[in-house]
Amino acid sequence: MRDAMLQQVERQLTSGFRLLRFYPAIEAAYLKEFTASRVRIVHVWAIVGTLIYNMVWVGDATMVPDMLPELMFVRFAVFTPFAVLATLAIRRWPSPRNYDILSLCVVVLGALLPMAVAVFTTSPYLFIYQNANVLVFLFLVIGLRPRFPATLLGLALLVCIQLTTTKLNGSLDAVTYEALISFYGTVAIFLALGAYFQEHSERLNFVNQLRGTLLHQQVERQSEQDELTGLLNRHSLARVAAKMWTKPGSDTSVFAIMLDIDSFKLFNDVHGHIEGDTCIRAVSRCIADVVGDQGITFRFGGEEILVLLPNIQSTEALALAETIRNAIEAEKIPHRGTTGVVTASLGVAGGLTRNVSLEDLLKQADAALYEAKHRGRNRVAWMDAELRSA
Ligand code: GH3
Ligand code: MG
Ligand code: MG
Repeated sequence: MRDAMLQQVERQLTSGFRLLRFYPAIEAAYLKEFTASRVRIVHVWAIVGTLIYNMVWVGDATMVPDMLPELMFVRFAVFTPFAVLATLAIRRWPSPRNYDILSLCVVVLGALLPMAVAVFTTSPYLFIYQNANVLVFLFLVIGLRPRFPATLLGLALLVCIQLTTTKLNGSLDAVTYEALISFYGTVAIFLALGAYFQEHSERLNFVNQLRGTLLHQQVERQSEQDELTGLLNRHSLARVAAKMWTKPGSDTSVFAIMLDIDSFKLFNDVHGHIEGDTCIRAVSRCIADVVGDQGITFRFGGEEILVLLPNIQSTEALALAETIRNAIEAEKIPHRGTTGVVTASLGVAGGLTRNVSLEDLLKQADAALYEAKHRGRNRVAWMDAELRSA
């Protein structure tokens, strides 16, 4: 599953993403990260943006004094509450779509409100006054940074607002108005290009990081997996045990079942090593099927399998060991060396994690296994004070 994702990521990097869109699974992961990263700092932009926005009332007072009450009203009574609500809303319902929509609403409202009021001003400073809205363009592209299509739409709407309101005011002469058209058009084109490359590199970073994480996970998994059986290998034992032994609650019990296939040297001698490998694989699959999610199964050595069982009663551990023994016998893998079928001996040991270390547990399970071999093989033996008295 994870390898399939890694393959997709590799393919994505080869094919590129000029349209700023990944394959669905990668896109979903990117959008999750996109939303989280934006929402994490949205309040910073909201506070800084709204503060600066409201401070422009000084500019209102000096450049458009005839509309000051209306401008104060739209800044403080309309825009500010809206900005606060939008910030709360995106934190409450975070999603890429909501983020894009709210970002657009904030900048459109931010530019439209004062400019709509300024339609009615008779101030000679309108040309200077309307310049301040370049800050809204920058706020959209540098601050809020919605996805590219939303940014593009936002820039187009801001240009329209700027040109329509100044036109409606009617005080700018034709030359000044044409200068405005080329100015805002150029600003929008530059910012749109910047936004495109910005999102492209953000996506490239994301996909490279994802590749790194997946590769790391793959290497880790491969280094912990036994190639022949697919079980965990002995290297992973320390990591798994560390988790079991550090579980909160010092009275966690843990049992170990150490299994060794009987007369396996002979099996190899009679059937050959290739058959021997197939046999180890079949026995391992059989054990893993019986254990299921009750415990963790390792290939401990050549034909020795270890099962660790956390949070289990001694009777259950013994019953499970017996079920495993039975299941292997029931597989009826022919063993011509013994004129019968393949069997295994099992040693069981257990205790509370606060009383017994992994090393001691393995020693005890091994001693029990030796006991099982000694008593004639194809049986379960145990080595635990509690178990022995059972
Ligand atoms: P016992 O019943 O006492 O366990 O007898 P045994 O012959 O099984 O003795 P032991 O467990 O010591 O033998 C292990 C043998 O398993 C030795 C080795 O040739 C064989 N073996 C170990 N790893 C592999 C493997 O990966 N593939 C194959 N085919 N054989 C292996
Ligand atoms: Mg052995
Ligand atoms: Mg053996």
